[in-house]
Amino acid sequence: MKEIILVKNGELALKGLNRRTFEDILIKNMRHRLSDLGKFKFTPAQSTIMVEPVDENTDLDEAEKRLLKVFGIAALSRAAAIPKDMNAILDTVGVYLKDQLEYAKTFKVEAKRADKSFPLKSPEICQEAGEKILSMYPHLKVDVHNPDVVVMVEVRDYYTYIHGNQLKGAGGMPVGSSGRAALLVSGGIDSPVAGWMMAKRGLSLVGIHFASPPYTSRRAEQKVHTLCRKVAQYSGHIPLFVVPFTHIQEEIKEKCPEDLFTLIMRRIMMRCAEIIAKKEECGALITGESVGQVASQTMQAIAVTDAVPTIPVFRPLIGMDKNEVVEISKKIDTFETSILPYEDCCTVFTPKHPKTKPKLAQLEEAEEALDMEALVSEAIENTKFIMIDNR
Ligand code: ATP
Ligand code: MG
Repeated sequence: MKEIILVKNGELALKGLNRRTFEDILIKNMRHRLSDLGKFKFTPAQSTIMVEPVDENTDLDEAEKRLLKVFGIAALSRAAAIPKDMNAILDTVGVYLKDQLEYAKTFKVEAKRADKSFPLKSPEICQEAGEKILSMYPHLKVDVHNPDVVVMVEVRDYYTYIHGNQLKGAGGMPVGSSGRAALLVSGGIDSPVAGWMMAKRGLSLVGIHFASPPYTSRRAEQKVHTLCRKVAQYSGHIPLFVVPFTHIQEEIKEKCPEDLFTLIMRRIMMRCAEIIAKKEECGALITGESVGQVASQTMQAIAVTDAVPTIPVFRPLIGMDKNEVVEISKKIDTFETSILPYEDCCTVFTPKHPKTKPKLAQLEEAEEALDMEALVSEAIENTKFIMIDNR
């Protein structure tokens, strides 16, 4: 028996005239994510996209697992694709959905007839399929309002598709449909989650990481690669820029007041990030900040950081509690990596008493001690590039 994956696209359906473009991007993303599993045929039909393996023995379990991480998919289910014939429907329906029906208490059958030439009408299909199921699973009861399992029989152009309950997809919008943004990614818990959240809104990601060797180790950078690879399971590949930050930090330490270290550092991060973002045609920066979490994330501290870039800074975690962020990081499998105890460039030069209510003028004055232009261009010139893919 032929089996396919039926994909329900989510917010796509709302997009009116743009729907085709969104659908095309979604299909391109799905195709890329499945490319090493074999050839697939993608057929859009209303709010559904049928994903059909071309070769026999394609690993559909793996395909399903990967599609569950593709943004723009609201729900999906495996479906049996069988001939358009009532006997074939009756032979298949109870057997194919055994796993779901066996443990359910109630069910109902719904039929859709896209092909109006099919000899039976929808209520008749439901009736016959329902009786067949009841004869195979006598413990079941029909419940049309709130059934445990909804058995779908869809008679379409070439096949009849039979499927049961759907799995919830990753939701959101197809990555790339909203453009590109640059994620400032550290080795912590927050920034990978922030990147995931913005990819969910259809942004493709470029990563920017500031490293301070020898204060930060090679392993600390590897950790960032791993985190990006995990986010890339959802966002697709992430071009990652690693900016050397040691000289900048040493200069700040030597020439600026200690209570402003972190803020000056964060302002220079923004300066460098904006340059890379613009080169990479990114329309915004993304950070993992949330109000009040640490001294550099008070409202006043965020204000002086935000005063640097001329493009918007998206901070999707701004109003979230740490435990809410942790919950997402566990769900997207970045948590275990994030808590590995490697050095971070921010923790290497942490002041004992950071200023929590800084004034912009204080920072601008303190920064006059630095040769800002030279420091920034040196860092940009020595930036390394690594392409992080999702495999
Ligand atoms: P995270 O868990 O993401 O590290 P955090 O709670 O440790 O965040 P900070 O260290 O103040 O907070 O960093 C705030 C944000 O600044 C991070 O979420 C990230 O977007 C960015 N950032 C911090 N350090 C780096 C770094 N070394 N490279 C790139 N971006 C960084
Ligand atoms: Mg951090």
